[in-house]
Amino acid sequence: MTDTVFGKIIRGEIPSHKVYEDEHVLAFLDINPLSRGHMLVVPKEPAETLDQLSDAAAAAVGRVLPRLCRAVIAATGVRHYNVLQNNGAPAHQAVPHVHFHIIPKPTSREGLGIGWPLTTLEGQDGANLAQAIAAATR
Ligand code: 5GP
Repeated sequence: MTDTVFGKIIRGEIPSHKVYEDEHVLAFLDINPLSRGHMLVVPKEPAETLDQLSDAAAAAVGRVLPRLCRAVIAATGVRHYNVLQNNGAPAHQAVPHVHFHIIPKPTSREGLGIGWPLTTLEGQDGANLAQAIAAATR
């Protein structure tokens, strides 16, 4: 995979405001926060998208995410937040190294704004789709 700005941050080649680090995970403040406390949680494994991440790296991120959410709540006093994880440029991923955003939602105007274009799941398509996805997990 291509080297990214997050690879450089992980290796300490460019600075960041670090909030957590262990053997597998680094978390630091986003340079352009949507709200105060907006942070990024990054596996050190250099996978581009979540589907490419190893089970071990995914487990390491999952283990610390709730703790980091609690820490952001405690530090900002903001109880509500979004966890966002983008995959691929059309899905708004700008940095091709897996990362989870933790974004406090202090007010309706601050933090993450979401477009949510609802459609309806049709019966037979739903059944077929669920079956196809279930088969692909095996
Ligand atoms: P994405 O759109 O890929 O999900 O989000 C990438 C995030 O990385 C953006 O929120 C952006 O502000 C943040 N970001 C990009 N470059 C840097 C950097 O050099 N340092 C930090 N701390 N954050 C960055």
